[in-house]
Amino acid sequence: MIFKRFMEFFPEIAEKETRRITLRNDPQAPDGEYAFIDSFCEDKHCDCRRVYFHVLQIDTDYKVFHAATISYGWEDLDFYLSWSPYLPSEMAAEMKGAALERIQRQSQYAERFLEFFESKFLSDPAYIERIKRHYAMFKARLGGKAIKKIYKGFNKYSPCPCGSGKKFKFCCMA
Ligand SMILES: [Zn+2]
Ligand SMILES: [Zn+2]
Repeated sequence: MIFKRFMEFFPEIAEKETRRITLRNDPQAPDGEYAFIDSFCEDKHCDCRRVYFHVLQIDTDYKVFHAATISYGWEDLDFYLSWSPYLPSEMAAEMKGAALERIQRQSQYAERFLEFFESKFLSDPAYIERIKRHYAMFKARLGGKAIKKIYKGFNKYSPCPCGSGKKFKFCCMA
């Protein structure tokens, strides 16, 4: 799977909606401001319902330190099992929830950022809704088959996944 950053399609929304944390005197990770940059799979027909976060430290002179790569699947196990009937069940289980992505870049502090993500971000339902919306916007922009299935599960009072700024109910749902 090839992943692409949400910000490449929607730079202005990404600017406002990318989560950042500032660390000062953290016992386990260096001081700095870190952005959790969301990326999604670029296959327009694939509805895998996962996000990859590149956790980057953005320091004042714009040198960037890649702290971690975190994957997160927000659906339940049944979804990932039915998503790919040929996938061994232990692999489907890995698609669910948050984890450090094995084949991607990680720093020695990666575990700490996963902990942050799980304790601070996953406990915030509004943030999870935002990620789902980013995913839907991203897939809508790709214009493949995946978006039809995604629309089915979408809250009609949320902003429309197409990025129009209207409520879903009064936009693409119609
Ligand atoms: Zn996919
Ligand atoms: Zn729309």
